[in-house]
Amino acid sequence: MTSILEPEVTLGVLHDRANRFDEDLLPCRANNPELWFAESPADVEFAKALCQTCPVQSLCLNGAVDRREPWGVWGGQLFLQGKVIPRKRPRGRPRKDAA
Ligand code: SF4
Repeated sequence: MTSILEPEVTLGVLHDRANRFDEDLLPCRANNPELWFAESPADVEFAKALCQTCPVQSLCLNGAVDRREPWGVWGGQLFLQGKVIPRKRPRGRPRKDAA
């Protein structure tokens, strides 16, 4: 939630801030951006790890929380339906018996 002291972090604000850095420093620009919206849990975890070095990580995460991003990795966290979730589940039905 944005406070009265902090302006809303729109995607435009995030892009403006990100544009101050070389693209090489922005993992989602320097790598395949599809990783940030991947189906594979391993790829999602890789994207989350890459975000850890991003110079706009906290701005990106705060904005995604405010915007209630519907899905994807933002600021090193995975969003689903506007909420941060710990990890992506693999596709398919869950097992009936404990593995
Ligand atoms: S923190 Fe945001 S801008 Fe930075 S790599 Fe991750 S998704 Fe991209």
